[in-house]
Amino acid sequence: MRKQIAAANWKMNLTIQQGEQLLDAIIAKPHSLSADQQAVFAVPFPYLAMAQQKIAGKKNVFIAAQNCYSKKSGAYTGETSVEMLQSLGISVVVLGHSERREYFEESNQFLADKVNICLEYNITPIFCCGEPLRIREAGTQNEYVAKQLKESLYHLSADQLKSIVIAYEPIWAIGTGKTATTEQAQEMHAYLRSVLAKQYSSAIASEISILYGGSVKANNAKELFGCPDVDGGLVGGASIIAADFITIIRSLK
Ligand code: PEP
Repeated sequence: MRKQIAAANWKMNLTIQQGEQLLDAIIAKPHSLSADQQAVFAVPFPYLAMAQQKIAGKKNVFIAAQNCYSKKSGAYTGETSVEMLQSLGISVVVLGHSERREYFEESNQFLADKVNICLEYNITPIFCCGEPLRIREAGTQNEYVAKQLKESLYHLSADQLKSIVIAYEPIWAIGTGKTATTEQAQEMHAYLRSVLAKQYSSAIASEISILYGGSVKANNAKELFGCPDVDGGLVGGASIIAADFITIIRSLK
């Protein structure tokens, strides 16, 4: 059974005190996550140690970094290595968020290098993909997103691929309040699973969690997560409101 995941992306928001309060408010509630459900919090780098301490002993709850660098160590001022993350006990990293692709020009090839180093250090990448509005309007979103997977993931062995979580995030739905319809989300998720099945096998593809991201809110999470190929969500805005994210976690299948 593939994992159902509610992943919070705090982005560059909150002070550490606000972050502590938010985590306290969310993880104090008993969510009784089942063995195949997870809650993940991608917090800003300076809060990783604090957050990691807060969730100590909590089952199926993980802290994630929002990025990492593709090199092991060295003269890369301002970057964070996977070894540093590992030394903090971090086992999940968000890679290729559209904001990183757009503002920091992260390419599919660069992301392939980051995927590789994460896997080398047993860190699970939540690999983000998704099309901008102009591609959706042109109707070529399937090809666009398949290319992102191909160029960043297809060099992986089947065993390696099983360690990846994919987050489909149509860029036109991120932070816009404009959510993909359940039909649009299910259609793309089923398509992505079908391309993975073609490249690897249907058994492998059926094991990969594919999260939806793009204006997931407390009032639409249940419907979106109810789609057969949607395995939870990567959530920005609603993840920094305790009550909303609690509802989102409780909306997991
Ligand atoms: C995100 O940050 O990945 C995201 C989907 O943001 P929002 O939920 O605010 O659209």
